[in-house]
Amino acid sequence: MKVLKFGGTSVANANNISLVKNIIANQQSDKTIVVVSALGGITDLLLRTAALASIQDISYKTFLKEIEDRHLTTIKELIPIHSQSKILSKVKSELNTLETLLEGAFLIGEITPKLSDKIVSYGELLSSYIISEYFIAEGIDAAYVDSRQLIKTNSIHGKATVNFQLTNSNCNTAVKEHNQKVLVMGGFIASSVSGISTTLGRGGSDYTAAIVANAVDAEILEIWTDVSGMYTANPKLVKQAMSIPHISYEEAMELSHFGAKVLYPPTIQPVLSKGISIVIKNTFKPEDPGTLITKNKNGKGKTVRGISHVEDIALLSLEGPGMVGIPGISKRFFEVLSNADISVVLITQASSEHSICVGISNQDTELAIAIINEAFDFEISRGKIKSVIAEKDLTIIALIGDNMKSHQGLSGKMFSTLGRNNVNIRAIAQGASERNISAVILKSDVKKALNTLHEEFFEENIKQLNLFVMGVGNVGAKFLDQIQQQKKYLKEKLKLNIRVIGMSNSRTMIFDEDGISLKNWVDTLASGEKADKALFYDKVMKLNYRNSIFVDNTASEIVSNTYHSYLQNSISVVTCNKIACSSKFSNYQELKDLARKYNAPFLFETNVGAGLPIIDTLKHLVASGDKILKIQAVLSGSLNFVFNNFNDSTTFHDVVKQAQQEGYTEPDPKIDLSGVDVMRKILILARESGNVLDIEDIENHSFLPEASLQTDNNEDFFRSLQDYEASFQEMYQKAVAENSKLKYVAQFEDGKASVGLQRIPKGHDFYNLEGSDNIVLFYTERYPNQPMIIKGAGAGADVTASGIFADIIRIGNF
Ligand code: ADP
Ligand code: ASP
Ligand code: MG
Repeated sequence: MKVLKFGGTSVANANNISLVKNIIANQQSDKTIVVVSALGGITDLLLRTAALASIQDISYKTFLKEIEDRHLTTIKELIPIHSQSKILSKVKSELNTLETLLEGAFLIGEITPKLSDKIVSYGELLSSYIISEYFIAEGIDAAYVDSRQLIKTNSIHGKATVNFQLTNSNCNTAVKEHNQKVLVMGGFIASSVSGISTTLGRGGSDYTAAIVANAVDAEILEIWTDVSGMYTANPKLVKQAMSIPHISYEEAMELSHFGAKVLYPPTIQPVLSKGISIVIKNTFKPEDPGTLITKNKNGKGKTVRGISHVEDIALLSLEGPGMVGIPGISKRFFEVLSNADISVVLITQASSEHSICVGISNQDTELAIAIINEAFDFEISRGKIKSVIAEKDLTIIALIGDNMKSHQGLSGKMFSTLGRNNVNIRAIAQGASERNISAVILKSDVKKALNTLHEEFFEENIKQLNLFVMGVGNVGAKFLDQIQQQKKYLKEKLKLNIRVIGMSNSRTMIFDEDGISLKNWVDTLASGEKADKALFYDKVMKLNYRNSIFVDNTASEIVSNTYHSYLQNSISVVTCNKIACSSKFSNYQELKDLARKYNAPFLFETNVGAGLPIIDTLKHLVASGDKILKIQAVLSGSLNFVFNNFNDSTTFHDVVKQAQQEGYTEPDPKIDLSGVDVMRKILILARESGNVLDIEDIENHSFLPEASLQTDNNEDFFRSLQDYEASFQEMYQKAVAENSKLKYVAQFEDGKASVGLQRIPKGHDFYNLEGSDNIVLFYTERYPNQPMIIKGAGAGADVTASGIFADIIRIGNF
């Protein structure tokens, strides 16, 4: 004999019920007991209707009408017309009784738990009757059984306790009395010994099925629902969650107690003692294997089986000096809660005995505060204990697995993973069975915490990086192209799944929680909402994704001023914008400190030499104990271009103009020509070598005439270049005379940095520098005479984008 239970979604409408029929028609078993829930959503509707009637809100009638329509439509769609009338009249008569009950509640303006149970029982009463008649109409050898006559309980309405002795015997009698192959009955509903309707608690149809399976010694209990088994985490919140193939009773119980709604927690108990296996299957994908729950799960497999969470939790803490060493405080505390029927979901106690802290259901908070304060009134009035403190709207998140006890370091991994993602942990508990490690966190962090832990414990191989990209001009666009092109490679080879969740240019911004398609982002962005840097930040915060990275491809100071906020929330920052790192030392230092404190990398490799690995190399030299003695570098692609092309057959003005037009300079070429850009770069290198330096400390031997430096717009600047052509030619001739070339060199030595134009003789490392190439020489204790040299293209959108890309990969491997 088999017991199959079909949940609310599985029987929500005629179409779904026909799928259930197919499953039943294919059963090989000699006898099958089918336990069904109310049509999906009907229990909620019934409770809502009753609540409205009880406050004398006439709108209850609208919901009642909806309930009626759902049932009548289902019958009309399921049953052939010629067989409908009997079923319709029976259901209509039941609905009339329901209406009378609701009218009663409306008139009195009150609803008792007893009446509520009576009203809500109509959900399963009607569904089981309709489904049994449909089976019969479809030629299945089936019969309807009234659950209220089988399942007997006490009279605690809302969540009655089962009388197993009576129930077991009733079930066996019913099986004997009905010789049909299939018996259909409603879940969730029962009756007291005196025959009054009771219910088994929300989600209780699973429990009904388990009670029956236990009573009739079923070979198996199948729970058919809308997902393919018990998942590693709630599949609605964690997209990567997977069905667990095989799990033990204890693990399943723990997962369901901690929120895995797919199985009503008491369900395991009745089948456990008889060792009846449970299978959780998907009505909509019957071919999926689902989850098998048995006594002995196969020993191998994951240590952590699943991650559950329970929402709407409040933490109550009682503390004070008067608690130390005094026996009985905890006893009194728990007694008070228990007497008021407040169940304690989680307990933590500091070993100093200075405080007790428990997790209870949100809705019990006010009552708990009142009764505890009253019970400890004497101690509180004498200052020995402080009034109880409550914090509401929290969530418990729990790692669950039988084998966790034999593995060290799981809790460490759990808490460090949460910490790295800025999930604040309010309390921690670990059961002595070590089957469960729980943490209490803020509700707003649940999705992030679940996904982070899931990634850590179940997707060890794949790490998801969530990008928020500001600036999609030359560099940004190339960067997005590169991500799109490399996506598959990164996933397969580096196990990184990179998604761009948000992007913005100066005009518009867009967000997509599933990742923006990088094939047509230009159009999507163009039709996005109006760009706003503060709103962009708010949105990143609100989405609260794990492994979030803010990517700044702008040259904006306003954007660079937002880095603090991102880092403070454990969001990494990758930037090609030099402003932050070359701002006041205190600001640079603060950003570095925040990055360390909040475990969020702050990377800016592209600030110097675009994609060349200059800063990363420098960091490694310093970290490995080398000491930087001197840095000599040519760091401006723009100035290289200018001096490589300037000679006696051109004018300085024309060459600069050409450089500007071909995109080799900043829009304002004075930033490059005045040496400010190079100053920023050598400043960053000096700082990264471990020196405290500000931009004012750098000597700038500018080659520009004072008059050019004083201009404040491009037009005047270019005019002044024309005015001073003779002096530029003189610079050039001097270099030619010495057989040397003009290079704009940055230098750092003995704590001092300088930038300026130099005549570089033949044979020098800088002499043959082509195009916009950069070169850096690091003289260090380990490279004292022959410097370490890094050379290559130091400007251009493509190489800068690949440098940003490299920083993202560094974070991925962090
Ligand atoms: P039914 O109506 O069939 O009894 P429920 O809604 O009670 O179905 O339970 C199934 C739902 O449980 C799933 O749709 C899913 O949203 C939720 N759920 C929560 N945690 C888990 C989990 N760990 N595994 C599977 N489902 C889960
Ligand atoms: N119909 C009931 C509920 O919604 C019982 C169940 O579906 O398990 O809670
Ligand atoms: Mg359920």
